[in-house]
Amino acid sequence: MSATWRKYAACRGIDPEVFYPVSDDEVEDAKAVCDACAVREACLEYALANREREGIWGGTTERERRRIHRQRRKSA
Ligand code: SF4
Repeated sequence: MSATWRKYAACRGIDPEVFYPVSDDEVEDAKAVCDACAVREACLEYALANREREGIWGGTTERERRRIHRQRRKSA
């Protein structure tokens, strides 16, 4: 796994539980961190490539990533 981007992750040092939210408010808290993250794109692509099912990755929820997969399949 190439994870150079992880070095620059804005979530480093933050409680990982923040990125496994159980409420919409918590989703927004996690997304706010991702919004300010320099490696958001790399993180999202990693999650998409690895079919990460749970948690917030690259500012997206599991449902949002499923939508991206569907859109990419359609346009492929
Ligand atoms: S996009 Fe979000 S989850 Fe991904 S590395 Fe950055 S802060 Fe962490």
